[in-house]
Amino acid sequence: MLFQGDSLRCDWIEPGIAELCFDSSGSVNKFDRSTLNEFRQAVDALKATDDLRGVLVTSQKEQFIVGADITEFLGLFAAPEAQLRQWLKDANAIFNDFEDLPVPSVVAINGIAFGGGMEMCLACDIRVAATSAQVGLPETKLGLIPGFGGTTRLPRLIGADNAIEWIAGGAPVRPEDALKAGAVDAVVAPEALKDAALRMLKSAITGDIDWKGRREQKKGPLKLPMLEAQMSFATSRAYVLSKAGKNYPAPLTAIDVIEKAAGMARDEALSVEADGFVKVAKTEVARSLITIFLNDQVLKKQAKSAAKQAKPVQRMAVLGAGIMGGGIAYQAAVKGMPVVMKDIREEALQLGLSEAAKHLQKRVDKGRLTVEKMAETLNRIVPTLKYAEVADADVVVEAVVENPKVKDAVLAETEALLREDAILASNTSTISITRLAKNLKRPDKFCGMHFFNPVHRMPLVEVIRGEQTSDETIAQVVALAAAMGKSPIVVNDCPGFYVNRVLFPYFKAFNMLLRDGADFRQIDKVMEKWGWPMGPAYLLDVVGIDTGYHATAVMAEGFPDRMARDFRSALDVLYENERFGQKNGRGFYAYEPDKKGKPKKQLDETVFDLLKPVCGSPREFSEQEIIERMMLPMLIEVVRCVEEGIVATVAEADLGLIYGLGFPPFRGGPLRYIDSLGIKTIVDMADKYAELGVMYQPTEGMRQMAAEGRGFYPKHA
Ligand code: NAD
Repeated sequence: MLFQGDSLRCDWIEPGIAELCFDSSGSVNKFDRSTLNEFRQAVDALKATDDLRGVLVTSQKEQFIVGADITEFLGLFAAPEAQLRQWLKDANAIFNDFEDLPVPSVVAINGIAFGGGMEMCLACDIRVAATSAQVGLPETKLGLIPGFGGTTRLPRLIGADNAIEWIAGGAPVRPEDALKAGAVDAVVAPEALKDAALRMLKSAITGDIDWKGRREQKKGPLKLPMLEAQMSFATSRAYVLSKAGKNYPAPLTAIDVIEKAAGMARDEALSVEADGFVKVAKTEVARSLITIFLNDQVLKKQAKSAAKQAKPVQRMAVLGAGIMGGGIAYQAAVKGMPVVMKDIREEALQLGLSEAAKHLQKRVDKGRLTVEKMAETLNRIVPTLKYAEVADADVVVEAVVENPKVKDAVLAETEALLREDAILASNTSTISITRLAKNLKRPDKFCGMHFFNPVHRMPLVEVIRGEQTSDETIAQVVALAAAMGKSPIVVNDCPGFYVNRVLFPYFKAFNMLLRDGADFRQIDKVMEKWGWPMGPAYLLDVVGIDTGYHATAVMAEGFPDRMARDFRSALDVLYENERFGQKNGRGFYAYEPDKKGKPKKQLDETVFDLLKPVCGSPREFSEQEIIERMMLPMLIEVVRCVEEGIVATVAEADLGLIYGLGFPPFRGGPLRYIDSLGIKTIVDMADKYAELGVMYQPTEGMRQMAAEGRGFYPKHA
């Protein structure tokens, strides 16, 4: 044995041939501090041997190496720049020492090799991948760039254009595509992997494969004619900017680094890479994106533990084949679940099915689905007009019209048909779950399961706990949502639940701004620039002015102190004039179908006369004032929800808005955003608007946190 650690070992497998095997005592191989430490020791052990002729790198786990340990990142990146740079220097010295061993190295990539895992492969001379492997450098998705030589070695191996596509896009790459690009040298069946890799190593040892030449290519400057290089970098920069947007600096930094280091040999190029890495690692964007990743892990863990407690759902049913019911049935079918879809109107069933077929056809057209699979998926949806067909479902999701009387009748009738242990869930957006449970015999088996529109695209599901909902019911529905490919958060019952409860103060703030003379077009522009996918006027048009109007009334009744209005608003006027938004072609804006039939937003001057009586005389608002007046009520309401235990964790509070509303990911979520400014700044900002009412009043808890200098997330000193 040359070296034995907790994460890896190094031993002779044949005379002169050593195997460096990653085999963590944890669940997966990853580069954390201790693994890097052991890697150092293993490389030193290899360097110290006299009779080494070649090194085979393998993994004993199902995945090769999943990447660097992201849980260590926030602590690491909070360190002073010099310390971070030293960490990179030390880590790269290990990869370099490994690469510089005087013998060839071949890696057998059996599963996922992402980030640091891929950089380990790049440090080897030859790469053999199993068909089960996946490679890639996803660092830019976390707001970072590769830091263990990825931006240096990959372009020298597969060319700058390909490397930029891999690094700036961050997508996983299949082994066949990696082979085509030249990032791996062979792809073989998983069972043949180790033998094939060993054979290539022996060919390298005998000189049949020119490993030295290949190593030189990786270590030398990029071979690109000057003019071609300039063109290529300029084109990719424009493309990446259009894709990632200016709020995500990492992909562009990666291009800068590759370009700047193009004429340099390895060691100098690595130092440029380190400069780029330190620059992005210190940004709020990286911090936000890493926080989202870690929060998402929290959600996944919760869903996993729920699945352990829950019985798997064999059959589900959806009541209502409308926008939501149809979407829910489609999503279940796509994830392999048989689903009965019940409506009272044949044409609703047909519409539900044809919408599902349309979505599936799009995937077929893009080559992501075969026609057979499309048919199989559609066949999982069983349309019916008869209640009897839902009787043997394990879970029934009710998505009929938003009318308490109709819902009461439908839920009671369904409950009477179901087995005692079956679960009933409602997709209501505004009716209290506790209130709906009052008419049921088994309120413990009832909860909310709130999907977002469009169901197939929006990742969030709010699982709502009524007063009598049992823990088993919650676990079962959380597990079902996760099995449907969604990210569930658990929310205690209250008007608007979590997401709509914090959205409506934002809408009220919008109406107040209009009342005070702001222009809705400017507000939309400012909020879109701030990072929202659409501004509030546009969003209200998409949600539906009528839906917004009704929900506003529910929220005003639920929280009269801050959500009731004492003025006639733009929303009222549009509603009274039946300008319901996108659905009937007129709202704040006008909508005409474009060539593809999608509603295209246009300005409609007539709206200004209509709104005149409720909008104050026009006045100039600065961008900052608009942002503060729009965001404060939402942020404060989020804090209230955390303080009242409506959501149990900071992770759920932040991801709820990112996944449910499209809160800008580069800001990390509402609480992460508050932390980034400092809660004291938020409190002071809110106090400036005290005359606007309770909605702008920070909670006592916020004042206390501000006084104590605390935040919602741990501070990394
Ligand atoms: P919709 O009007 O598109 O669909 C409702 C469907 O229910 C119709 O097809 C109707 O025929 C059917 N229906 C009525 N009575 C029924 C009965 N007794 N049995 C079976 N089917 C019956 O409405 P939608 O937008 O899909 O909303 C459905 C539910 O989802 C509502 O509770 C709504 O609040 C909620 N929701 C809607 C959205 C959204 O953006 N549309 C988002 C989240 C939640």
